Amino acid sequence: MKINPKAIRELFPIMDELINDEKLSYLDNAATSQKPYSVLKSIQDFYELSNANVHRGVHTLAERATTQYEEARAKVQRFIGANSTREVIFTRGTTTSLNWVATSLGEMVLEEHDEIVLSLMEHHANIVPWQQIAKRTGAKLRYIGLKNGKLDMEYAKSIINGKTKIVSITHISNVLGVINPIKELAKLAHDNGAYLVVDAAQSAPHMKIDVKELDCDFLAFSGHKMCAPTGIGVLWGREKLLEKMEPVEFGGEMIDFVYQDSSTWKELPWKFEAGTPNISGAIALGSAIDFLENIGMDNIHEYMQEIVRNALPKLQAIEGLTLYGNLEDERSAVFSFNLEGIHPHDVATAFDMEGIAVRAGHHCAQVLMRELDVPATVRASFYFYNLEWEIDHLIETILKTKEFFAHGTI
Ligand code: PMP
Repeated sequence: MKINPKAIRELFPIMDELINDEKLSYLDNAATSQKPYSVLKSIQDFYELSNANVHRGVHTLAERATTQYEEARAKVQRFIGANSTREVIFTRGTTTSLNWVATSLGEMVLEEHDEIVLSLMEHHANIVPWQQIAKRTGAKLRYIGLKNGKLDMEYAKSIINGKTKIVSITHISNVLGVINPIKELAKLAHDNGAYLVVDAAQSAPHMKIDVKELDCDFLAFSGHKMCAPTGIGVLWGREKLLEKMEPVEFGGEMIDFVYQDSSTWKELPWKFEAGTPNISGAIALGSAIDFLENIGMDNIHEYMQEIVRNALPKLQAIEGLTLYGNLEDERSAVFSFNLEGIHPHDVATAFDMEGIAVRAGHHCAQVLMRELDVPATVRASFYFYNLEWEIDHLIETILKTKEFFAHGTI
């Protein structure tokens, strides 16, 4: 093992919390990650030492804040292998990023009867914005189905065609943990003259992302799932496309000149960032990137694969436990399951009594839940500060919960 997860765990203050008198086992990382001291300190440092608004002032603090904000953008650029900081737009998170690309790209390229291709495993954030732009433009939505718990690529080939203008797919499913073949989808989209948007909310925290290697046209992710605070995220897009696209929000900071009847926009990336941005959030995202890169994204990925190899067979061995998604291919450490005869919310409540934080529900993926024919699942999702004992604790707690609901005793 190239990383020392025990030592890493100590860098996260919340791990000392007792939950119902038990040691915290935080397995809700697909919803949001915990934050290390260094990221928390970067927020405090900003407000104690550099707080000012960005881009507008010539005073020292304003310059300090602007430099730090723009340095954070450069860190994001390097983190995802982008060509230029002009391609990196700060947003509130994946949801905002996807709304902006749906609205702006959609308005630019969609006409009546054009098609937008999504998949049945998308998060609501990668469905609803497309429904809205489809309504406004008369475009149609089509969905790639699932086969063996993963994307049915044969079906994808049959529906991505000359009518397709945009394909928007998640890199890693927040429910199934499956990793989708983005490069293959990029080729399919591009061969048919369509653009590929990638929802990287679940992949950016877990693996090295290189937008050139993925060959996508847009990429969206959230800081809060990768050790940064909530309220900050990124939309990356190819410069040539962003140049042609209209901003979605308007106001201060994004304009060049304002006249009574019209205005002109600043250059990229600022034309998309109207109003005072989340300055401390962006700086903290930069700090989170430093933290992750210090550990090494490849090392994180390797450790997460170790967790999968350890946890998957143990979960599969439990009688009455149904695991969802493809179980053969390389996957992320996100496990969605149900226990026969026990409601997922009861399972999550029983786990909480043992200090284990998991999520129960539809995970913002109602279309997928319908496809799986379940109202909800329990989801245990790991990150690099989770330790081996937590896998065993999860397994023991599942067995205990089964016992309790079968006989009313633990
Ligand atoms: N897409 C996926 C795959 C996600 O897991 C999430 C967060 N659960 C989102 C989009 C939305 O991210 P946010 O709520 O940070 O905007």
